[in-house]
Amino acid sequence: MAGLAETPRPAQSGAMDDTALMQAIEARETELVALTQGLIRIPTLNPPGLNYREICEFLRERLEKSGFSVELIRAHGAPADSDRHPRWNLVARREGASSGDCVHFNSHHDVVEAGHGWTRDPFGGELSDGRIYGRGACDMKGGLAASIIAAEAFVATHPDFSGAIEISATADEESGGYGGVAYLAEQGYFDPARVQHVIIPEPLNKDRICLGHRGVWWAEIETQGRIAHGSMPFLGDCAVRHMGAVLAEMEETLFPLLAGKRTAMPVVPEGARQSTLNINAIHGGEPVQDEDYTGLPAPCVPDRCRITIDRRFLIEEDIAEVKSEITAMMERIRARRPGFAYEIRDLFEVQPTMTDRDAPVVTTVAAAIERVLHRQADFVVSPGTYDQKHIDRIGRLKNCIAYGPGILDLAHQPDEWVGVADMMDSAKVMALTLGELLLPLSAR
Ligand SMILES: [Zn+2]
Repeated sequence: MAGLAETPRPAQSGAMDDTALMQAIEARETELVALTQGLIRIPTLNPPGLNYREICEFLRERLEKSGFSVELIRAHGAPADSDRHPRWNLVARREGASSGDCVHFNSHHDVVEAGHGWTRDPFGGELSDGRIYGRGACDMKGGLAASIIAAEAFVATHPDFSGAIEISATADEESGGYGGVAYLAEQGYFDPARVQHVIIPEPLNKDRICLGHRGVWWAEIETQGRIAHGSMPFLGDCAVRHMGAVLAEMEETLFPLLAGKRTAMPVVPEGARQSTLNINAIHGGEPVQDEDYTGLPAPCVPDRCRITIDRRFLIEEDIAEVKSEITAMMERIRARRPGFAYEIRDLFEVQPTMTDRDAPVVTTVAAAIERVLHRQADFVVSPGTYDQKHIDRIGRLKNCIAYGPGILDLAHQPDEWVGVADMMDSAKVMALTLGELLLPLSAR
């Protein structure tokens, strides 16, 4: 009996004969492993932003050999850019034989700290049982390597393609992307006149297309009181008790309200398919002393208490509404609580973004996933943000998704790894996508 995979597919008009392209990817497995290992072995730790120039030079050498023209761009003046830790980015472009669309693969080259709990060398790139281990293996040096192999195999098989292919490796995604994609977008690198399709190979898994992400609002809330001697608290006004009232009100009214706000965005995991709020930190009263301090604390009524909130919001919500929800809550407390005074300070905000399901890059990658994996693509939205925000907001380019190998849950964990077979499958999907978007029908 024929399995599902053998079910004959209806003939598509203009469907490519992709045998040669798929063979070209298969022939490059060893190269894909070596490239991923090479990238992992350059520890591009962020913070503070180490070895950015080194990884860009490493990629420049390789991509120039494959016929790309390569630019190294330092994000002068961006947050965290300094002579000691310059924010270097790479943009490589390969022109086709005739004019047409440009497909851009964007990967961040920075990685987060290794942290504790590793049983392998975090910067060794060890290959074992079909997995490559290391910090950044899945997030996202494996995806970067897969996109390079896909582009090289495609160019070797179809040197007569039309349009252009770009590959970028950018700084600082892990700390907001301001020295990376945001900077390049400001310089016009993601202008829709220059680039028409963007794929970000973040580790969303080889059968999932990530359409976008929820919005973010970070703020600091401070309650204010009056300092006094701790033995006579009635002479002061305790800011920590005021904050207690804020937290109680959050439990009673705000969290239930947020839990009721569901979204049509296909956010994964399921728990993030609603508005959420995290209290990242709380602090009030006397500052924490150094660990080697052996004295007692002093008796004071705290006159300030602060929390940092991390509110994630939905495409159905407006950021002004999100902020006024908090203000309204604080005003409710003020109305019933004598001496209650507060301040709210904005720290950071990102608008939610979601690419249309019928955008060309979405439908093309979905069809390629079906061809390679013989199953339908899943469409997801990320609970947290990534560089798509800058491509959308600054670059004004909507035809953008995240698609790449690796399991998201492994990102930022000890013993992070990426599977070689997953990278190979993703590289095939990326190469087929290039074929669909850059080959004139007559050349297929
Ligand atoms: Zn990432």
